[in-house]
Amino acid sequence: MGKVKCKRRRPSPNDTVMERFMHYAVVRNGCWWWKGTKEKKTRRCILSLGNGNRLTAHKAAYNLFVGDIDRGKHIKHTCGNWFCVNPDHLVKTEEE
Ligand SMILES: [Zn+2]
Repeated sequence: MGKVKCKRRRPSPNDTVMERFMHYAVVRNGCWWWKGTKEKKTRRCILSLGNGNRLTAHKAAYNLFVGDIDRGKHIKHTCGNWFCVNPDHLVKTEEE
C-alpha cells in the first residue's frame, strides 16, 4: 500500500474566483486563515487569479459572500486577525 498523497490540488487557471478563494482559506477557531500569498510589509493577503491579476483576499471575501464595496470604503476585521478572511469578521469602514 502506497502512501496517501496530499489530495489538495493546485488551483488551475480555469477555477472560478470562489474556487480559488476557498482553496486558500482554512477554517480554524472561527476564523478563516489565509494560506495564500501574504505581503509581510502591508499585512495584506493576496489572492492570485492565475492570469496575472491579483485581488486583496479580504476584498474578494467581501465581494463573494457579502456584496459590493463602495468606492472609498475599506475592509476592517472585527476579530483583530489580519490573516482572517471570514466574511462574518469583515466590515466596511471609512477609515484606511
Ligand atoms: Zn476572524
